[in-house]
Amino acid sequence: MKEDYIQKNDYRSIFFTDKAEECESELKSLFLNHLEYSLIKDITTVKPWDIYYALALSLRDLLIERWLRTQYEYRKQDVKKVYYLSLEFLLGRMLTNSLINLDVYNEVYDMLKEMGISLEDIIELEPDMGLGNGGLGRLAACFMDSLATQAYPAYGYGIRYDYGIFKQQIVQGYQVEEPDNWRKNGCPWEINRPELTYRVRFGGKVISETLPDGRIEHHWIDTEDVLAVAWDIPVPGYQVDNVNNLRLWQATSTAEFDLEYFNNGDYVKAVEKKTISENISKVLYPNDNVHLGRMLRLQQEYFFVSATLQDIFAHWKRYHHSFNNFADKIAIQLNDTHPALAIPEMLRILIDEERMSFENAWEITKRCFSYTNHTILPEALEKWGIALFEELLPRHLMLIYQINNVVMEEVMRLYPGDLAKMRNLSIIEETNGKAIRMAQLAIHSSHTVNGVAKLHTKILCERIFPDLAELYPGKFQNKTNGITPRLWLHTCNPQLASLISEYIGSGWITNLEEIRGIEKYINDPDFRTSFAEVKDINKSHLSRYIYRETGIRVQVNSLFDAQIKRLHEYKRQLLNVMGTIARYFRIKDNPNGNFVPRTVIFAGKAAPGYFLAKRLIKLINNIGEVVNKDPDIKDRLKVVFLPNYCVSLAERIIPAADLSIQISTAGYEASGTGNMKFALNGALTLGTLDGANIEMAEEIGAENMFIFGLTAEEVKELNQSGYNPRSYYESDPELKRVVDSLIDGTFEEGEKDLFLPIWKALMEDGDSYLNMADFRAFVETSNKVDEFYLNREEWITKAILNVARVGKFSSDRAIKEYADDIWGIKPLPLELNNGNNS
Ligand SMILES: *Cc1c(COP(=O)(O)O)cnc(C)c1O
Repeated sequence: MKEDYIQKNDYRSIFFTDKAEECESELKSLFLNHLEYSLIKDITTVKPWDIYYALALSLRDLLIERWLRTQYEYRKQDVKKVYYLSLEFLLGRMLTNSLINLDVYNEVYDMLKEMGISLEDIIELEPDMGLGNGGLGRLAACFMDSLATQAYPAYGYGIRYDYGIFKQQIVQGYQVEEPDNWRKNGCPWEINRPELTYRVRFGGKVISETLPDGRIEHHWIDTEDVLAVAWDIPVPGYQVDNVNNLRLWQATSTAEFDLEYFNNGDYVKAVEKKTISENISKVLYPNDNVHLGRMLRLQQEYFFVSATLQDIFAHWKRYHHSFNNFADKIAIQLNDTHPALAIPEMLRILIDEERMSFENAWEITKRCFSYTNHTILPEALEKWGIALFEELLPRHLMLIYQINNVVMEEVMRLYPGDLAKMRNLSIIEETNGKAIRMAQLAIHSSHTVNGVAKLHTKILCERIFPDLAELYPGKFQNKTNGITPRLWLHTCNPQLASLISEYIGSGWITNLEEIRGIEKYINDPDFRTSFAEVKDINKSHLSRYIYRETGIRVQVNSLFDAQIKRLHEYKRQLLNVMGTIARYFRIKDNPNGNFVPRTVIFAGKAAPGYFLAKRLIKLINNIGEVVNKDPDIKDRLKVVFLPNYCVSLAERIIPAADLSIQISTAGYEASGTGNMKFALNGALTLGTLDGANIEMAEEIGAENMFIFGLTAEEVKELNQSGYNPRSYYESDPELKRVVDSLIDGTFEEGEKDLFLPIWKALMEDGDSYLNMADFRAFVETSNKVDEFYLNREEWITKAILNVARVGKFSSDRAIKEYADDIWGIKPLPLELNNGNNS
């Protein structure tokens, strides 16, 4: 690019604006202007990152025009809105999504090509926005996409963490965490809104004042305050002009704070203190499905909901004079209990600031809130010790007690003398030190509670919260999770997407049920050939990436199986490891046997404090070292651990997978969404009857999946009757050999007892997630997969059926159910304003 320009042009033409003036395209002119004025580059100094940044800023300009129009319409029509509160949004990359949703992908592709730049290369420069851990945060991101695409009046709210989920490196087989400084080169998508700043208070004390009319007012005083500043990210819908908003809060110190500390003369100490208040939005807690109970986390949660509710109230009061129809116009969704402090915060605002009675405030609150439960794991249910709470949020503690009193009075009326009921239904846990149970708080205070798959909702009602489900008939609903087909097919697998559109049109992109139309072509030889070719192309792309990242050569004609998700005992990466070791021994015992070559792919982060999960990563890498180099094995088995699992890595792996490993202990995975992404991209599932796998089998047909293992009912019974992992070890020689290999030097590479903790988890600590009980079925089923894979035609048929029949698992369907059954909101599509960008 540079040489051409410099040779051909005079000095003036090295600037971009010269070109911009004569542009026929608005986008191109924006782009050239941004290169020069926002990036301060001329043709001789421009770098690929500048191209990315200027392109993103140009798209942002287009988005802002639509964003303003959208917000204007929502306001003007005074429609009911939903506020989606989540401490995590795992957005991944934004560039391709914006290009596609603005319908300018091809235009930009050609524009860059003319300049000798490949759009694909530019796309790879963008860091992921990793403001989430895993499934819960990714669900929030898919939901934002579906809300905008279906033109729902919706606002996402979250925290603008300086550091998202850590970057994972693998060093000598071990996970090493690195801070994720995702904004270090700037983020073009977020827009600072310093005019939207709110004061969030902490600590202090509450004094009460009796008014002449006898009412008591509470004053929360002597607080230490922090400011919350808004940053907005525009969220465009697909083929609709609506652009919704995701507002993320950043913590900064207050002005008085600065005055107080700086005037004392110790400048350095003052800056240190300032940093402490800014720590609140510093880092995302990297734990998935566990609650740690740290003070800073409670501060984050309150900081987030206080800023959000102040924002909701400020907006409301600008256009309304009373709170009469507040709950008719506002729905607030709690993504897990992480934002459940919004409940006492709403009470505090209505009672202490708006002078409403507790009874009225409580009625409004219950009509606004709804809560999504994401897990039944006891270690993940949030509980906050009373002492910590009282220190940080004394007024909220009072309000929670007040809610609990009202609730307990009702319980005593309904179940006089039933102490067990009272104990189960109370928000306050009295055993081993008083604590606040956030799930109970959220359930009592919401009009609707939902689980995220049928089995999960059933377990919530029957096992986790049976007394609450009985107390509030009809409050519990199911809303099975979904994924956005824009990212998880159209964007991540463009070749499969165009093949599908060629045969059935592109309606599936916004109405995924239409994808069933490809079933008609199941016997069409051209369709089948192209379908299989796309998978092979994707596999060869992934194999090159694997080589680049790990130095491991894998065979494109081997069966690619993938288990990519957060490392967690309940997800049972260990069971997959045990099956892989068994496969290794089978090949070794029969070196001339006829085996279907298999590439076993793992990816996933372990929480930095999760010892067993981290040791398992080391085990996987050591198995890779042994197996991949073993001359007896040749190319019949490769074991790969791809570092730094994140959205953009998922986008590479999923389109290339033949087999999706979804083997959580039945009853423990609430839904899973990885399972849906794989099926949509033509991978068959090897899985247990858990979470949404069950509903996938209903849709796809169990005969087109590989289902194995104990059911949730059987897991419960086995646990009740006394599970003995050793009995499986004693009676299954292959299992015995696999378990022994963990401690007999096979994979330890000289580091004695390296994997003893894993061995102990299985053999001495009760094997909590029943790996031993499901081992035999897993191995047999995995071998059955090989047989099926040999019959290529039958495999292609099943793969096509998987794609054709996953229409239900679109997040568009999930969001429509929330909108209709929980929020009571309606779409408000903007007129498409075509031609404003070309
Ligand atoms: C979809 C997704 C998840 C959730 O995967 P599960 O297999 O459902 O646990 C986690 N992380 C990323 C990056 C994802 O894209």
